Amino acid sequence: MSPLCRRYLWAMGIDVWVRRAAPREAGGAPDPGGRAGEADGDPMGLEAMRRTVAVCTKCELHRGRTQTVFGVGDPHAEWLVIGEAPGAEEDRQGEPFVGRAGQLLNAMLAALGLRRESVYIANILKCRPPQNRDPRPEEVASCEPYLMRQIALVAPKVILAVGRIAGQNLLKTTTPIGRLRGRVFEYGEARCPLIVTYHPAYLLRSPREKHKAWQDLLLAKKVYRERYR
Ligand code: SF4
Repeated sequence: MSPLCRRYLWAMGIDVWVRRAAPREAGGAPDPGGRAGEADGDPMGLEAMRRTVAVCTKCELHRGRTQTVFGVGDPHAEWLVIGEAPGAEEDRQGEPFVGRAGQLLNAMLAALGLRRESVYIANILKCRPPQNRDPRPEEVASCEPYLMRQIALVAPKVILAVGRIAGQNLLKTTTPIGRLRGRVFEYGEARCPLIVTYHPAYLLRSPREKHKAWQDLLLAKKVYRERYR
């Protein structure tokens, strides 16, 4: 188990039992950790973490949820979409970005030449805040280790942060979304390109802003092509 994984387990309040490592031959392969660790039976692979999150009571939001909304999609996706928190429909179905906002997200992905199943979709929070209010800082802090571990496991090539809450929390800033979008940030030690755009639910209310979201998607596509193709 990698030190990073151990840190996440600790942050989630999970006891860690570490088996003594067998001596490695000189020149042997180093412990890859991260995604390979999952294949090796890493106890905090995505599916194990989904089960942990399903019974999480680390913040008050567990009291009002129907179920947790962990994340969905290709566990080795190149594109990671991160939203805010489950709404009423997501809470009912247990899947992020369903309903009309989900359909619009699917259309946005299709505009990038991506199918919903080929990306990974997650939220800052895994439980629905009451009346869809903004997440509180202590709730974000409680839930953050789950998302960080998801990002580490998926190891995306591009992160699309949709909406103010996602953009501000991932970038640890209070800058308004209007000044976050249209720029390329780098996230984490892997310096994964991160682009912020408007949330589909906002675009449904403000269709005139759709052209800006389209520009953001083009920017994300350009970054992906320049870096990886
Ligand atoms: S929002 Fe996150 S930290 Fe809070 S109870 Fe749900 S899973 Fe746990």
